[in-house]
Amino acid sequence: MAPISSSHDKAAPSKSAYPMNSLELEILKLKTQLLFRQAWLGQAVIVVNAGVLAFVVWPTTAMKIWWVVTCALVFGRMVMVRRFNAAGQDYDVVLWCRRFIVGATLSGVTWGMGYLLMGCDAPEAELFFGAMMMAGMVAGALAILASMPAAFRGYSIPVFLAVTGVAVFRAESRLEWALAFTSVVFLFAMLRAAAYLHETVHESILMSLKQRYLIEDLERTSKEAESAVRAKSQFLTNTSHEIRTPMNAVLGMAQLLGETKLDETQKRYLGILQDAGKSLLVILNDILDYSRIESGKLRMEKTLFRLDETLTESTSALVVEAAAKGLMLSIHIHPDTPLTVVGDPGRLRQVLINLVANAVKFTAAGSIRVEIAPLLVEADMVELKFTVADTGIGIPSEMCQIIFEAFTQVDQSTTRNYSGTGLGLSICSRLVEMMQGKIWVESKLGRGSRFYFTARFALPDYAPTPGSA
Ligand code: ADP
Repeated sequence: MAPISSSHDKAAPSKSAYPMNSLELEILKLKTQLLFRQAWLGQAVIVVNAGVLAFVVWPTTAMKIWWVVTCALVFGRMVMVRRFNAAGQDYDVVLWCRRFIVGATLSGVTWGMGYLLMGCDAPEAELFFGAMMMAGMVAGALAILASMPAAFRGYSIPVFLAVTGVAVFRAESRLEWALAFTSVVFLFAMLRAAAYLHETVHESILMSLKQRYLIEDLERTSKEAESAVRAKSQFLTNTSHEIRTPMNAVLGMAQLLGETKLDETQKRYLGILQDAGKSLLVILNDILDYSRIESGKLRMEKTLFRLDETLTESTSALVVEAAAKGLMLSIHIHPDTPLTVVGDPGRLRQVLINLVANAVKFTAAGSIRVEIAPLLVEADMVELKFTVADTGIGIPSEMCQIIFEAFTQVDQSTTRNYSGTGLGLSICSRLVEMMQGKIWVESKLGRGSRFYFTARFALPDYAPTPGSA
């Protein structure tokens, strides 16, 4: 796996005085936690098995004393586990790790001593039973100590030294030689298995840590990106506000100027000035709306209004514009459409004006048709489908989805030829979403476009009264 560099890889100040980077330290910390978490089980087994050896298999006084020593060590290790757990997260990881390794080694030495005590006098059967128990103990410790090979070595080597040593020292039968030999082979196999298991544990801890760091890095980066976007839209809002106020003054003054005595040339210049000012105001309002939507500050009204009136208001100015280009603009309302609904007429008007204005802008000849039809009528609400169809330049199919994203236009020359910011459709799409609807387009290049959107409105009798949920 390629190394992942993150802020966590760098050496970080830690509670430990040992030279390690923060990643190594974190791995060691998790391994140490694993060791201590599993320590109870191992200690319980030690007490029981040592008791079986000292009281059942070879019940001599020396073995009983050995059992007491073993229990004392277990007690000491349990105290250590309690203290470790009480230390919470604020502990010197290397120190605790070393303590655990020393504890495990002492435990291995104690077992080795127990076996030596038996090995001096016990008959072969007891000796073999003891060896079998030692092998079992070591195999059991393999999983518990997998996260710390040094602890496993400290535990298993003294045990096997004792088993092999006793077998070689007694060397009374072929079986004892065989025991010496197999215990060496077994130790070797156990050490290999421990190393392999440790590698696996290490890898999985490393992977999970890297995954955690990646997620933390991603979260941090996305927070930074979010705050940059917020700052950007705040800047857009502020500047648009700042420009809009003097712009309104310019337009107001231009209107007053229009009421004074002007010659024809002056009137023409004034007209151009007013048109440019109005276009600029439309752009400023778009930017303001967009940033308000982005920051979630845009609220939808709930008022009673007539659809036909809203539609006429939306298109009245554009009918003149269309007529000036020789285009026919017609409106069709399906007879089943409930005309009085509850919603936000201002926002509906905004979507319609945007779509119809685009249709007028991008159509050179032919007609523009606006339709409303009900999709779903229920007792308390209606879902309407709006269509704005034109016979204009059309949109390439690969762009039909993308044009609803902010600042997107079909091609760079659009701005030059038709002007615009590429914000209109993105605002429409968000407004339609807020009206629980969706917007889409079907288009054929050179043949025209059909923009559709749906929107839900409450019906008057069921409109929520102020104060109700
Ligand atoms: P603007 O019109 O301000 O550039 P819009 O978001 O309203 O921004 O539209 C984005 C782009 O979608 C336009 O620049 C144009 O390329 C394309 N488009 C929108 N409406 C039409 C239409 N009726 N016919 C052809 N192209 C259109």
